[in-house]
Amino acid sequence: MDLLPVEDAVKALLELARPVTGDERTSLDQSFGRTSAEDVFAQIDVPSFDNSAMDGFAGCHEDVSEGMSYSVSDRIPAGRIGQPLRKNSLARIFTGAAIPESADTVIVQEDVEFSSGTARIKKLPKKYSNVRRRGHDITSGSKVVSKGEFLSSAAVALLASIGETSVKVKTPLTVAIFSTGDELVLPGEALKSAQSYNSNRFLIYGLLRSMGLNVIDLGIVPDDYSQTLAMLLQAGEVADVVISSGGVSVGEEDHVKAAVRALGSINIWKVAMKPGKPFLLGEINGKPLLGLPGNPVSTFVSFFVFAKPFLKATQGLKEVASNELYGVSSFDFQAGSRREYLRGRHRAEKGETLIEKYAHQGSSVLSSLKWANCLAIVDAAQQIKIGDPIKFIELN
Ligand code: AMP
Ligand code: MG
Repeated sequence: MDLLPVEDAVKALLELARPVTGDERTSLDQSFGRTSAEDVFAQIDVPSFDNSAMDGFAGCHEDVSEGMSYSVSDRIPAGRIGQPLRKNSLARIFTGAAIPESADTVIVQEDVEFSSGTARIKKLPKKYSNVRRRGHDITSGSKVVSKGEFLSSAAVALLASIGETSVKVKTPLTVAIFSTGDELVLPGEALKSAQSYNSNRFLIYGLLRSMGLNVIDLGIVPDDYSQTLAMLLQAGEVADVVISSGGVSVGEEDHVKAAVRALGSINIWKVAMKPGKPFLLGEINGKPLLGLPGNPVSTFVSFFVFAKPFLKATQGLKEVASNELYGVSSFDFQAGSRREYLRGRHRAEKGETLIEKYAHQGSSVLSSLKWANCLAIVDAAQQIKIGDPIKFIELN
């Protein structure tokens, strides 16, 4: 069976992904990191009145000149409404305060000599300077947040700025996870010879929690066909999406693929990438199953490249792709017949983004992931020389 190119696999899995959870209304405080389930339109202009961008003196540009002195007829702090500006006068004004009627310009306090009720304009700025016009951020009727948009703290703050107290969001997905492997034990248990601690459970758990999803950990299933079947059935019952780790290769001890086939169907299996080749997408009782390979780095890379965009789309998010960037390689590299995802670090150096790679790129080397802040991408058969442009995706 030919390996599927990564782009084709991502395209196919996004075509299969459809939002599955309902909507709920939540307070702004509970909405951070969630997916908006509605378009929100502003009912007000923001700001809702012309106001001063600086501490200074408000005046009518036509009536005042540089070098001249004027009486200061009012003092307007933020939150107060001043008197209409008197002819041939200035009003002391502070940042955020409403511009008084008949004034159109604010002269910053540094450009004014002010003593005993009189202000001399040392430097007159252009008309309308330092005035934040009504609606210059948001105009009433405009869309502030779109359905399917990620609610970042800035998006939630924007909702607050138009006076919203709540927002309709998608109910978070519930993801069931389980780990396969006779060799696995949990931290807290004594490690016997030939056993390993189950680190993938924590890797996947953490990745899902950082996406704001609910996680049900169903534990470890031994490398046994009928127990894998039972685990898959249970997982499909309790969750919207199932994620397994390990047991998706071609070995005699790998039972996930056969069990998924027995219970449902397989849509994708084996992708032309390194690490992460045996990634599997299937369906059991109408629930998607993402089978991640067991080596921790393979688990992570296939989560990042496949599971993350799939989960985002299933959560109802519109933007699901990671931003691909370019840096400058600090290493020579020759890719094999599959696209390679290297654990890298990017840093700014002499006006460029330099990409380093972790020395030991083995797919079981979890230390490389903790070190990395990006995955450098080298396409199949591509040769990279020091100084060449290299593609990367940021990990956070
Ligand atoms: P598998 O994909 O099941 O063939 O596993 C490939 C390698 O990853 C083996 O060395 C496993 O011991 C290791 N592995 C599988 N699952 C886990 C896990 N949950 N945590 C840590 N290592 C694992
Ligand atoms: Mg295994």
